[in-house]
Amino acid sequence: MSRAWLIGAGPGDVELLTLKAARTLALADVVLVDDLVNPEVLQFARDDAQIVHVGKRGGQQSTPQPEIVAMMLDHLRAGRSVARLKGGDPFVFGRGGEEQQALQAAGIHVEIISGITAGIAAPAAIGIPVTHRDHAQGVIFVTGHGAGEHEADWRALAATHMTLVIYMGMRRLNDIVDALLRADMPPDTPCAAIESATRPEQRHVRATLSEFVQRVAQAQLGSPSIVVIGGVASLAAPVDAMLKP
Ligand code: SAH
Repeated sequence: MSRAWLIGAGPGDVELLTLKAARTLALADVVLVDDLVNPEVLQFARDDAQIVHVGKRGGQQSTPQPEIVAMMLDHLRAGRSVARLKGGDPFVFGRGGEEQQALQAAGIHVEIISGITAGIAAPAAIGIPVTHRDHAQGVIFVTGHGAGEHEADWRALAATHMTLVIYMGMRRLNDIVDALLRADMPPDTPCAAIESATRPEQRHVRATLSEFVQRVAQAQLGSPSIVVIGGVASLAAPVDAMLKP
């Protein structure tokens, strides 16, 4: 019988793929791959597996979500097992939930294989723990992508005094930082942005909230980056001390 999996590929470094993800990939007849998935991960797929890239990088349009689901259903109905490979964890800002719902609506059970999410791995890659007894009683994962009615309530988030880990936050960083400052978050709050975390091209910036936007712009940090705001960001290792594994 054909099977369907939603697999987290981890944040970038192929060694941060789980054993279960690697083992499952080797069972798939078809692998549908998102942006942000390190292509090295495909070494675990079978040589004869059909690999389909559905991401939007490399100047191509991303495949619309309904089309991805339709593709999965076609393969499954034809008796082929399908692995849907997503960056990080499939259920953290990866639309994995939507894909699961669509497959369930078609009567198909999809197995979820968790991955290490960038929101934890990227801060960790520069020595930032997302929680720490002295700094934050909790951590909030939030998308910076929303605007208008989808905008997060930054004032409410600032009031929690918890670590803010922002995914997809670079394009609207200016607005987000403005909103936090207007919500009386102290201008000297430590911040960090980590680009391409756990990959050889990893880079990061650390600054206080008031200088953060300017420093990120100076360093020309872009996507994909994770933004960390809160006391824990002061625990980042000094740049000079960063050793590659
Ligand atoms: N499901 C993924 C997140 C997908 S949303 C996960 O669990 O990690 C895409 C966003 O994730 C990017 O805009 C960026 O904010 C973040 N991201 C993914 N991989 C990253 C990496 N290697 N370094 C920094 N940020 C990353």
